[in-house]
Order: sequence, then C-alpha cells, then structure tokens
Amino acid sequence: MYDINKVREDFPILSREVYGKPLVYLDNGATTQKPRQVVEAMVDEYYNVNANVHRGVHFLSQQATDLHEASREVVRTFINAHSTNEIIFTRGTTESINLLAFSLGEAMVKEGDEVVVSAMEHHSNIVPWQMMCKRKGAQLRVIPMTDEGELQLSVFEGLLTERTRIVCCTQVSNVLGTVNPVKEIVRIAHEKSIPVLVDGAQSVPHMRVDMQDLDCDFFAFSGHKIYGPTGVGVLYGKEAWLEKLPPYQGGGEMIKNVTFEKTTYNELPYKFEAGTPDYVATHALATALAYVSSLGMENIEAHEQELTRYALERLQRIEGMRILGAAKERDAVISFLVGDIHHLDMGTLLDRLGIAVRTGHHCAEPLMKRLGIEGTVRASFALYNTKEEVDALVEGIEKIRKMF
Ligand code: PMP
Repeated sequence: MYDINKVREDFPILSREVYGKPLVYLDNGATTQKPRQVVEAMVDEYYNVNANVHRGVHFLSQQATDLHEASREVVRTFINAHSTNEIIFTRGTTESINLLAFSLGEAMVKEGDEVVVSAMEHHSNIVPWQMMCKRKGAQLRVIPMTDEGELQLSVFEGLLTERTRIVCCTQVSNVLGTVNPVKEIVRIAHEKSIPVLVDGAQSVPHMRVDMQDLDCDFFAFSGHKIYGPTGVGVLYGKEAWLEKLPPYQGGGEMIKNVTFEKTTYNELPYKFEAGTPDYVATHALATALAYVSSLGMENIEAHEQELTRYALERLQRIEGMRILGAAKERDAVISFLVGDIHHLDMGTLLDRLGIAVRTGHHCAEPLMKRLGIEGTVRASFALYNTKEEVDALVEGIEKIRKMF
C-alpha cells in the first residue's frame, strides 16, 4: 500500500519550517520537491563520474555517456515511446515547444496557414506558435471552452481546415485542473492528417501517459515538475515526423560533417541536441522517473485524486468560495478566489501561515481574460501531500476570510 509517511521521509525539505510553522507545500504545479534519491544521483555523478558525453574515448566520458543514454531509455519506457530516437532532451517544456514551433514552421508553414491552440494553454504553448505565425504569415485559431472549463470539441472539428498545420493542446490545465480528452483530439485531427502536440507538463507527474496509446505526434514535459532537476525536459516526437523536420539549433553534437561550404546533420535524436547536454540532469530525471515508477503511477494517481476530492469538498464549504472550473475529469490542481479578497493578499497571508500556494495569472493570461478575472490562488498537490495539509489550507483560508 501507499505509505505516505515513508514517502515523505524521502523529501527532506518537507520537514522544514517557515516563519516557525511547518511547511505546507502546495505549489507543486510550479515545481515539485526532490527526493533524496534524485539529489544523491546528481551528487554522485558530479563526485565520481563527471566528464563530457559522446566525444571522449576515456573511461569517465564513456561512463557518463552510458548514464545519459540509459536515461533516454528510461524516459522511452516511462512514456512508452516506440524508440529512443523519439526522445529529445531539452531544457524543459518551454524549450521543447519552441524547438517544435521553429522546426515545424521552417519545414511546412506558409503564408495563410493556421495553427490551432486551446483556450486554456500556458503561455509557453501560445507564444512560440504566435512567434512562428508572425514569421511565416500564419494565423492562430483557438479551441473555445465552456464556463465549466471543458474544451468544445464540436467547435474544434470545425476549426480544422486544409490550412491547419498543427493542433497544440495541454493534457491538463495548470489553472483549472481540467483533463482534456487529448486522445479524442488526436483522433479528430488525424482524420484530417493534422499532427498534434500535447503539452504534458501538468499530466506526466500525475497519471500514466502512453505515447503509443495516445498516438499524438509530439509530447512535451519538464523534469522539475516530476520530482527531477530543473533545466531538463523532453520533447517526444514520432520518428517519421522528426526525420522530416530541420534542426532547431546548430553546434556540436548535431552534425555529421562540417565544411565551410556545407554541413550534414546527425541522426536522431542528436540532430535536435546541439551542444553539451545537461547529462547530470538527464540521469537525475531518469532517477526521478524510476522513483515514481517504484511507487507506482496508479498509486500516485489514486492518492492525489482522493486528496483533490477531499480538498474540493472542504473548500466548497467555505463562505464566499469560488472554485474556477468544474470539469468532470480533473486533476490535482485547484484554482480559487474567496469573496473579494485579492488573490495576492490571500497568497501572502497563507504564506505567513507556512502554506505555499501560487497566485496570479499562472502564465495563462488569455484564460484569465476568458474567465473575466485577473488571477487566482492555486493549490496544486503532489504525491507527498496529506489530508492534514489540506486541513491546514482550509483553516488558513477561514482565518484570513475572517480578517477581511
Ligand atoms: N505548460 C504547462 C501546462 C505548464 O504548467 C508549464 C509550467 N507552469 C509549462 C508548460 C512550462 O514549463 P517549464 O517552465 O518547465 O518549461
């Protein structure tokens, strides 16, 4: 069974205090805390293995290369990709999407073409596409959503034309917690031979994802949101697509031969990995994925779903509580406002009670506009959060509400 106390022991930071109060960390949507195993993997590699990967004949370089490439295989297995050629290491979701927007834009977007995104995207799944559209004379189209925070699939179908080059959609909203029917979105887009990018930043830490089952063409996620280190992430792409796309950045690693006249590019996945990769972080990411796998993604999901249900039920009973979004399928993220208390005031006062939440627009300004608000308070849960921490949040909100 899932032993939450034992799990919490793996995360030293959870036992610290802030302002003399036990830390209640509910900002996991922004980044998760790191288990000992991940930090120790990094320390061990720097102390005992460190050397640049891929180009050395010496022992350490080969050992570091082996760890780095073994990590690619761990990622492949974790998301059930077909081949390690489909796993590109990046700095995170943001870089993964910028890479794709650039390369796909270069390869196949012309004036008058269209890119479809959803109404609930993070800025990192809007702005790179907007930049590419501007460069190419293309246009963004937006899948609208209902007041409950669900995408309107019937409208979506009508948005797809022979000019649509790609559909980009988050699997889980970082604001509303909505779990989007991405498999259905992929099916609909594929009927018209349009590729789909799924932003998995907020889904991968909470549920099992399977590339072959989802059948999406591209998928992006960040290591730091799934208990791994900062500065590393993944772009998954179907091999046939990646073969067709030109590189994003030039430099070492991504070449086969260089002359001043002409450069030929390396094979996959290296074509998209210019420069020295963060090989310590890739190894640590693999350690994080091994960690969650050892707990079991199904167990993590069940624990977090139970926690979210409990939190929703308790929060809803608070006078003046307004929870944003009411999707039927939802994940471990809850955005709310209480009465006319400003989200920033609520966040700042909760912080004084030792409770870390996020406030603001959550890098989703178009979604805020759609909801007619400036920002929210957001509590987001991880595998180590407890019902006692939800109680602390509820009691904290009650206390602050009474102050106003
Ligand atoms: N997409 C979503 C849905 C997110 O929640 C985030 C992080 N808040 C990102 C993309 C960007 O991730 P990163 O900053 O790690 O690149």
